[in-house]
Amino acid sequence: MNKQEYINQAENALLHTYNRFSFVIDHGEDVYLFDTDGKKYLDFAAGIAVNSLGYSDDYHKRAIQNQVEKVMHVSNLYYNTPIAEAAEKLLKVSQMDRVFFTNSGAEAIEGALKTAKKYAYTKTGHANHEIIAMEHSFHGRSIGALSVTGNAHYREPFEPLMGGVRFARFNDFESVKAQVNENTCAIILETVQGEGGIFPADTEFLKSVRALCDEKDILLILDEIQCGMGRTGSMFAWQGYGVKPDIMTSAKALGCGVPVGAFLMTEKVAQSSLVPGDHGTTYGGNPLVGAAVSAVLDRYDELSLCEHVQQIAPYLDEKLNALVQKYDCLTEVRGVGLIKGLVCTLPVGQVAAKALENGLIIITAGSDVLRMVPPLIIKKEHIDEMVEKLEQTLSTF
Ligand SMILES: *Cc1c(COP(=O)(O)O)cnc(C)c1O
Repeated sequence: MNKQEYINQAENALLHTYNRFSFVIDHGEDVYLFDTDGKKYLDFAAGIAVNSLGYSDDYHKRAIQNQVEKVMHVSNLYYNTPIAEAAEKLLKVSQMDRVFFTNSGAEAIEGALKTAKKYAYTKTGHANHEIIAMEHSFHGRSIGALSVTGNAHYREPFEPLMGGVRFARFNDFESVKAQVNENTCAIILETVQGEGGIFPADTEFLKSVRALCDEKDILLILDEIQCGMGRTGSMFAWQGYGVKPDIMTSAKALGCGVPVGAFLMTEKVAQSSLVPGDHGTTYGGNPLVGAAVSAVLDRYDELSLCEHVQQIAPYLDEKLNALVQKYDCLTEVRGVGLIKGLVCTLPVGQVAAKALENGLIIITAGSDVLRMVPPLIIKKEHIDEMVEKLEQTLSTF
């Protein structure tokens, strides 16, 4: 089949919930993707911050292959060794005490919200607790996750959503404080807002929210689904701020391609929240994803991936700042480590489409941001190549 035939086949069968780029992926190699015509693309999107190890990590691949041969799924009615190992490793790097594995980011958010509600219920003996979320946040597409997502466009057709959610302005502590009342059980935010346009939390803001939570026994939920797993140069972004959450979520790069998420919590929260019967999942934490997560964490350790991000990110900053100096259409660089947003006055969807023609995969965030979330293994030469291809792209506008 040719490219158009593949596209027609997909469009005739799949529900039309995405306006896809006309790019049909065949396979990946190192930090490159190849389409069905054999054309090569430098990947600065990594499947939306998923493929941190790129496409040629043999250790990761072999661990998954070996597990496929042994057993992929057993259900949570029994123990399985890969997930126990993965859990132990994940707790070590996350400094959390308990973990529940999910199948996606949205499900991790659902679990985090249920945990917070149950914690407050256990403490007070009644339900009807409220959650404070942020404007321009993104937490996923399921009803609970959508309820704490501060984007009217995503929410409106599906209302009424989960009740008891109040929105505050990100990085505006007074606006958060103003939403607190005696029923508030949790404050949820992304440590670095991703989909909303790459806005890192201010240190002072995060510290003030933490102090407020401590004062009122409100749980702080940090969504690390996009910004976690080494992307900012710390294993989880909050570790770079020194502000520890009570509950945190992970997904995207956690399995580096195998669908897996997690919500994690401190022992204090675990002791007074979900108990047998409160929560479950059929697939969640099966041996297949256990083997993948375990291998991912081994590779992060062996490759010192966080240190690598710390070393390479300043070079990317330097190059992006130079582009802002050079092009009037680029006005600002935002982000931390290898989660970067380039604010652009051109139609960003068209820029991303044109970049694709030039062999560069970048994505957008918000309405005016070119987003870069490359595999964490990228080297300087890849950054140089990205700049060259982006300049080639910008010159055509
Ligand atoms: C992607 C994302 C989610 C949702 O994850 P899914 O796996 O798509 O359900 C939640 N929160 C943040 C910050 C994300 O970037």
